[in-house]
Amino acid sequence: MSRVIAIANQKGGVGKTTTSINLSACLAEKGKKVLLIDMDSQGNTTSGFGFEKNELDKTVYEVLREEVSIEEAIIPVEECFENLFLIPANRNLAGAEIELVTRENMQHILKKQLEPIKDEYDFIVIDCPPALGMLTVNAMTAADSVLVPIQCEFYALDGLSQLIYTIELIQESLNPDLYIEGVVFTMYDARTNLSLQVVENVKDNLKQTIYKTIIPRNVRLAEAPSYGLPINLYDKRSSGAEAYRMLADEVIENAK
Ligand code: ADP
Ligand code: MG
Repeated sequence: MSRVIAIANQKGGVGKTTTSINLSACLAEKGKKVLLIDMDSQGNTTSGFGFEKNELDKTVYEVLREEVSIEEAIIPVEECFENLFLIPANRNLAGAEIELVTRENMQHILKKQLEPIKDEYDFIVIDCPPALGMLTVNAMTAADSVLVPIQCEFYALDGLSQLIYTIELIQESLNPDLYIEGVVFTMYDARTNLSLQVVENVKDNLKQTIYKTIIPRNVRLAEAPSYGLPINLYDKRSSGAEAYRMLADEVIENAK
């Protein structure tokens, strides 16, 4: 059975894309068949695997417009893992937010498009944009669960209640089975007290499941996308690679 996980947080720069790329690659490394969907018009997930995003004309945008079938938009990331696949995005997607509003059943388009291929994959990971608009709503409507990256910084919890409220609204109206898979701390810096305080504070104040794995701040994670590689291929012994492998183990365990 396949599991669809939306990686969401309306804050930018918290590690959604880094988590989407590297969690997907580590799941693939562990033998899972993975489809990663880039739902951000910045296309950082797409370029993170070395694709020239603005040269692609079959992206998630055309899928949402129902101009191309989902099968046509899927590209194998075989240079990395033969069981890893991507639906890319580029700047065209920026228009989708407004265009979708005029469509019937606009919240369900991604879910509907995924239906015929869903069961071919063990995991479908959706990298959401930094907003709680129609693209994120589509991702959460299609998803089984939401994984929320939280950056270890002073304002870590800002906006989190709004995110949880959005998830609750979607549970009530569009996707009653949706649940919060868990919160994962990112960019943890062991040298600062602040990171530790943030983790403690969030643990005390949050009712959500928190992953045991904490993603450290690791410069190799920031470098890897410019080589078009996930961390487990760019520097397989780095602390970032070890952490994302552990997160993949937890995600696989949760899926059982
Ligand atoms: P988002 O998708 O939420 O906007 P990104 O994953 O793009 O966030 O991360 C924002 C920036 O932080 C990027 O430049 C990325 O390379 C860097 N980054 C993310 N996670 C880490 C980490 N654990 N260690 C070091 N840099 C990181
Ligand atoms: Mg991103």
